This record gives sequence, C-alpha cells and structure tokens, in this order.
Amino acid sequence: MLTARTKSFAKENGWYQSSSAVFGLYKGYFFVLNSDYGSISIAAPYLDLKQEVQQVLKHLIAGNKKTLHLSEFSVDEQRVILVVKERFTYTRKHHLYETMDFLVGLFTQHNLAYEDRCLRCSSQNDLGYYCVGDAVTILCGSCYSELYESWRADKAEFTNQDKHYLKGGVGSAFVSLLGVALWVVLAIYSPRIASIALVLLGFLAFKGYELFGGKPGRFSAWIIILVNAAAVIVANYAYLLHGLYQRGHGIDLALQGPPAMVNQFAVNLIGSLSLCFLVWVVIFFQQRQALKFPEFKPAQLAT
Ligand SMILES: [Zn+2]
Repeated sequence: MLTARTKSFAKENGWYQSSSAVFGLYKGYFFVLNSDYGSISIAAPYLDLKQEVQQVLKHLIAGNKKTLHLSEFSVDEQRVILVVKERFTYTRKHHLYETMDFLVGLFTQHNLAYEDRCLRCSSQNDLGYYCVGDAVTILCGSCYSELYESWRADKAEFTNQDKHYLKGGVGSAFVSLLGVALWVVLAIYSPRIASIALVLLGFLAFKGYELFGGKPGRFSAWIIILVNAAAVIVANYAYLLHGLYQRGHGIDLALQGPPAMVNQFAVNLIGSLSLCFLVWVVIFFQQRQALKFPEFKPAQLAT
C-alpha cells in the first residue's frame, strides 16, 4: 500500500512507485518499501545469497531486532525482508534510513554486488524501472523491448484463448450436484447447519467450473452463478420432497402438498437465494479480477 510516508521517502531519493509500493536504488542496492496497516516492510529483492551468508545475515538481523523495531524478518536465497512495526507512534523517516543503512552495511560487508544493472543481462546502460502488475524490476532498454514483445504476445493469447464455457459449465453442474446430494443428507440430519452450509454450494459451482477447464471470461461468472442458483433450487426442492415423502405423500404431489410445507419451501428458498447472493457478488468480482492481465510498463517517478 502507498502511504504519504513511503511516498515522501521515495521522492527524497528519486524513487519510483507502483500501485502498491515505492522502490529504487539506495546506496547501490535495490529496495522496495510497502506500507501496511501497522507496519512498513523493507524488501531487498534480487540478491544472490549463498547459504552461509543467509545464516550470518539471519543471525545479525536477529541480534538487532529490538533496536530496529522489527516485528519480523525473512532471509532467503534471493531476498531480505524486514518488517518494521508501527505500534503507537508512526515510523519516523529517519528510522527507515537507519534500517536501510543497517542493511546496506550488511550487504557491503559481505561484498554483495550492487544492483545498478539490468536484472536480465547485467548491462549498466540505458537502465529503467518497470512494473509487471504489482512486481517491479530493473531492465536495460533492449531487454525491455524484447520482454515487451513477448508480454504482448502472451496478452493476446490470454485474451483470445478459448474460455471453455461449455466444459466449465458441465463441470460446475456436476460438482454442484454432488454437493446438493451431500447437502440434502446434511439437511435431513441437521437443518440448522445445512442453512449455513448452503453457501458452500457456490464454492463448489466455482471449483467445478475450474476443474473441468473453464477459464475466466466475460460470461464465466454468469454461468457459475446460474448453475449455483439452479443447484440451490434443486437442493431446497429435494428437501421438500423428502419432507413430503416422510409424511406419506407421493413425489408427484410435491407442490400440491400441505400448504404449510409449500410455504415453508418458498420461505427457505428465498432465504437460501438471499444468502447465496453474497457469494455471487464475490464470484462476480473474482472472475472480473481474473480477466485482468498484469500490465507491463515503465515505472512512474513517485509523486
Ligand atoms: Zn538487459
């Protein structure tokens, strides 16, 4: 998340910003600052840390955890991440500088290479910062041109790929029907839990669509929602049939059964569909989100 504090730090250092973080070089090393509720994470990505260096860094950071007000940290082969907590007072800018100086000190002590070079070909000419979705990278001009072409091809393929609506729809219906069968059994033995468990049918409709190869597309959310609505109606109807059967009515009399039961069926159904409406909103936005292909573009200077 971008905040006034991280943006002001970025401006002071001539850094860049993506939709969620600020980043740039600090004393030769590449850092990404990300502000979250109650903490700021300082990440040094794209390093090349040998096992023994990782161990030493972990040891030294752990020893300074308190002084640096860290709530957590992690060190792996490629990156070091420190999370500075902001409990009662906000993290002052000078504390960010101190923490980054501490890291730069560790990196230079261990002779880690500066990161003022293209991360793909190591060229130091014509460097630029680029965002791929939320991720950031350093590239030279020619690497950017090459990667941009392959990104364009990938984007076209993603946009034009067959969405397999039919396969997805069949999968969604199949998995939903299995869910309905289980739900009816649950409803017979424990009607209270069943009314809440009904929302899981929405999840099954979505999983079934994916399992059978359906891809996110303009119509995918509508297919999943329609299948789910049908499954909810079938589930409630099956539960009504069971009730009628227990009272000695024939299944063919289903909707001519005792008015009280039919009314209860209608009330249950409206309740179920209202509950599922919330799930449909989630499915709708999830599918819209999945339709987005991450943008690849030059980073903007922090403003
Ligand atoms: Zn390059």
